[in-house]
Amino acid sequence: MATSSTHLHGLTREELRLLLVRWGFSPVHAARLWSYLYLGLAGSFAAMPELPVKVRTRLETDTRLDPLPVALATDSADGFTRKYLLALPDGERIETVLMRFTGRVTACVSSQVGCAMGCVFCATGQMGYTRHLTPGEIVAQAVHVARALRHPPPGQCHGLSDTGARLRNVVLMGMGEPLHNYDAVMHAIDILRDPNGLALGAERITLSTVGVVPGILRLAEEKRPCHLAVSLHAATQTERAALVPAAKKWPLDELMAACRTYSHQTGRRIFYEWTLIEGKNDSAEHARAVGNLLHGLPAQINLIPLNPTAGYAGTPTRSEAAKRFQKILAEEFSLPSTVRQRRGIDIAAGCGQLAVGSV
Ligand code: SAH
Ligand code: SF4
Repeated sequence: MATSSTHLHGLTREELRLLLVRWGFSPVHAARLWSYLYLGLAGSFAAMPELPVKVRTRLETDTRLDPLPVALATDSADGFTRKYLLALPDGERIETVLMRFTGRVTACVSSQVGCAMGCVFCATGQMGYTRHLTPGEIVAQAVHVARALRHPPPGQCHGLSDTGARLRNVVLMGMGEPLHNYDAVMHAIDILRDPNGLALGAERITLSTVGVVPGILRLAEEKRPCHLAVSLHAATQTERAALVPAAKKWPLDELMAACRTYSHQTGRRIFYEWTLIEGKNDSAEHARAVGNLLHGLPAQINLIPLNPTAGYAGTPTRSEAAKRFQKILAEEFSLPSTVRQRRGIDIAAGCGQLAVGSV
């Protein structure tokens, strides 16, 4: 039964159809409503003129449509990144980032308010865990970005000004640990993928995890249609546990076994993320250690120079060290790697910089 808190963006197309049918309305109205939500990107019931008044009235009474008003929007100086502080109905807030790379627009969405995993260099980890997001709150972030692309506000800086651009990719790399909120995240992915909606297929959705082993195994078992990124940062258990406390619960050998199972069962390559911190994990020895760990696996390494956060004193790696790291991986281990383009650092919208103060 729908309640006043039923979030329309949290229903799959089939769930929406069943809801309207249960209310005694024709499935035709459900199909039209779905089109309004994901093709029209409607932000209010008033923007759905072809729905009969009785259907709209029922929806207004028993569902919610757009509970994520923008509390703040900030553009990076280069115009390629826009960070949104979005308000949730219970007064909590999350951050969502619109990123423009060459030839594609990506939404970086949050899966939780805060995070329980406590990685030492991450601003979200530093703020602690408040709650999981619902599927509707996750999908609504992508809808928000898609709508912002279609209707950019007047005077928006040049990098984001091409009206009509389409959202092409979603990365679950915002605030929170997606595999700690497994069911809601998978439900959201089902909605994002719908070919009659945002149509973000498996190739266009990437989920990044700190290394929640049971979640990785479940993804493999269920053959979930998305790319997987695993945050590694160190190639020994001791070094990793010092950066990523979750490694004490899910040790490196168990994590690597789960990654092998995942690649074997899904046939997919995994992206391994490595935040490069000067003097800590960016030496030639570190590159060889990760090379040995991943050699022979279907892997790509994403190197992320450390972004500054208030609670961690480390320094980002120098670009020569990042290049040396890449060269060793490529030449000695045939492992492809990329250095993450630094985007939005001036507005604290880079990896690991997302955090909000308490309201
Ligand atoms: N919770 C998930 C996804 C969100 S974080 C995860 O940890 O994988 C996305 C990526 O940013 C992760 O690889 C994370 O380790 C990295 N990251 C966190 N803090 C960072 C920082 N200060 N600088 C650079 N990368 C950081
Ligand atoms: Fe959580 Fe990921 Fe930040 Fe670690 S890096 S604290 S898992 S959001």
